[in-house]
Order: sequence, then C-alpha cells, then structure tokens
Amino acid sequence: MTLDQARALDAADPLRTMRERFALPEGVIYLDGNSLGALPRATAAALGDAVERQWGERLIRHWNEGWIEAPQRIGAKIAPLIGARADEVIVADSTSANLFKLIVAALRRDPTRNVVVSELGNFPTDLHIAEGAVGCLPGASLRAVPRDALEAALGDDVALLLLTHVHYKTAERFDMAAWTRRAHDAGALVLWDLSHSAGAVAVDLNGCDADLAVGCGYKFLNGGPGAPAFLHVHTQWQDTLTNPLSGWMGHAAPFAFEDRYAPAAGMTRWLTGTPPTLGLAGLEAAIDLWADIDMAQVTAKSIALFDQLHAIGTGLALECVSPTDPARRGSHISFRHPQAYALCQALIARGVIGDFRAPDILRFGLTPLYLGHEDIARAGEILAEILDSGAYLDPSFSKRHAVT
Ligand SMILES: *Cc1c(COP(=O)(O)O)cnc(C)c1O
Repeated sequence: MTLDQARALDAADPLRTMRERFALPEGVIYLDGNSLGALPRATAAALGDAVERQWGERLIRHWNEGWIEAPQRIGAKIAPLIGARADEVIVADSTSANLFKLIVAALRRDPTRNVVVSELGNFPTDLHIAEGAVGCLPGASLRAVPRDALEAALGDDVALLLLTHVHYKTAERFDMAAWTRRAHDAGALVLWDLSHSAGAVAVDLNGCDADLAVGCGYKFLNGGPGAPAFLHVHTQWQDTLTNPLSGWMGHAAPFAFEDRYAPAAGMTRWLTGTPPTLGLAGLEAAIDLWADIDMAQVTAKSIALFDQLHAIGTGLALECVSPTDPARRGSHISFRHPQAYALCQALIARGVIGDFRAPDILRFGLTPLYLGHEDIARAGEILAEILDSGAYLDPSFSKRHAVT
C-alpha cells in the first residue's frame, strides 16, 4: 500500500474524527495502545476539575455530589462495550485484585468443587493470583494446562474455568460462547479476563451466558496509567457470590458502622475500600469517548489495520504469530524475531512505539480510535529501514529496561 492509498483510506474512515480527541505527541506513531492507551484530550480538564473544584472547593461534600456513585456509574458505561447489563459491572481496584475476589468467590460457591482450571502461558497475574487464591482455601488447587488440554481438564471437581479472552502475546482469541458452554457442561463457572478485549473487539458476555469477567481500564479503554479496573458478575450470581475482600465500602450500610459484615445488594458488594476518585475521573473521561462509537466500525478498522501491518511484516520476512482469521484474534499483531527486543528499541528510537514480550515477540497494538493507515504505512517504512540497514544491531538497543 502506498502512502497515497493509505491517506485515501484514512479520508474515508468513519472513525477518522476520533483521532482529534486524543493528544498524541508529534513525531510518534503509537502502536502500544494495548499496553497503555493514549491520552484523551478531555482527560486533563476532567482531572483538573477533579482536583481543583471537586477536591479543592467541594472537599468532603463531593462524596455526595458524584464520588460515591462513580464505581457503579462508570461500570454502567463500560457495560455496553462488553455485552453486559448496566447493573452487572462495577469499577474497582486493579484487574489482579478483582481476579482474586472472583476466584475465591467461585471456589466458595460449591464445597464439592475446589479446582480452578486455567491455561499455561496465560497472562502471569492471572496464574499468580489463582495460585494465591487457592492457597487461601484448604483443599483448593490450580490446574494450569496447555490450551489443547483445557477441555479434558474440566472434570466434576472444577469450580472455575479462568481464561483470558484475547492472549496478550499472540492475540489469539477464545470462542467465548463455546468455552462458556464447555465450562457450564462440566458444572463450572467461567471467568473471562477481558484486559485485551474491552474496547478492542466486540464482546457479548450476556449473549454467551458468561458468569464473571474482569478487565483493565488503561489499555484499549485509555483510562490512564494504573487506571481502576472493572469487574462483572452475571445477574444470576449476584445474590449468591460474595467478596472475600469484604471491606466496608461493599457493606450494605457502610455508614451504619456495624461490627458484622453484611454484603451490599448488587455489584456494590465487590467494592472493598474507598474508591480512588482521581483515577476514576480519568477513567470516566476516557469511557465517555465510547458513548457514540459503533463497535462494528472499530472491528472493521482493526481488521484493515491488521491486514496492512501483516502484509508489511511478512513482506519483510517476519514470522507473524497472530491468527490471520479476524474471528480468532484481538486487536494487536505480534511477530517473532530472535532480536525482537533490539528491534523494538530501534523502532522506539525512531518514534515507532510498540513493545517487546519475552522471549522473542515484537508486539504492535492496533487501536482503531486513533491510528490510521498512514501511521501503519510510515511505521512499515521505518521497520523496513531498520531491518535492511541492521541499525537494530547497535549494542545500545540491547540494553534491557525494567519495563519492556
Ligand atoms: C494487562 C493485564 C492485566 C493487568 O493486571 P493489573 O492488575 O492491572 O496489573 C491482567 N490480565 C491481563 C490478561 C492483562 O493483559
């Protein structure tokens, strides 16, 4: 694809005006929105208001003027993006903490079932938290197996199938409806980690009859570094399951200051401590951008961006490890290369920001709201130059940083 062809596609893109709603720095092609979404222009004003007016002027009065309901209010705005009801989603804590709450809750549901099944190679925190959660319950255990052994692992001792919908490295996507059905056929609940799905691909939790879900606020949702996460519980389980991190904010009457814990109705019981109002303000400004977005347009553009970068990468003899069938992947593309780390650093030095995932994956996030075909074409030119010239072999590009 020539630059002119790329520009013509961008001019005809129904999402093209969304780009102006993000503050992207000059000279940067940002292909890492799956790790940390770009800054929405509305965020600085929203945070300014949260600090100066809400906190500075309204002080404690603002708890009753918007802060206390923010977790439910923002959850309701995320719900349509993941195919849930407005009263089935709440914003709280981190994805890791929310995984812990839901894994323990699922294990406590039925004392005859004490196994959590998950996938080897799942995002590390999912497995680490599952390990910690089963360690809190006598007799419980984690059965982590390769993808092709998952179905056989679903015995009648399984309480929960814990899967990440879109794989963080390869972008492989599980068939949510099929795996939810398999878990249910085995008598287990299913918990979907939507960190690489929300805002990236159309998700239909209720259409798939999914039980539980968690996900990140700072990736495709653009909520800002360390933004609060979301948590979903299907209406069917809301009265049965309870939060093991039973803090006062999840109590039925926090300001009754009772000694005994009594869980709040609905999703509020999944709160633990005081909501982080500044982080929530940033997340809400970003979620509001999705109000008028048609996910079918997001999907179509994600596919077109993928196909363009796939053609560039494979044309440069890079091995693509992401599925070419759009129904089987998320919205990023990964290439395997023995010098993936150095390549990534050389690209960053030229303004093309992607990321590296150990041991040999070069990963590029494809965010339809603020990326265009011209960006991909330019990134492709720079990638070709770096590969052809061997510029990435400079030793300075092999020095490892703490965050890759
Ligand atoms: C990014 C990501 C997380 C992040 O969890 P935090 O608690 O926010 O650090 C969790 N799970 C998956 C699948 C992710 O991709």
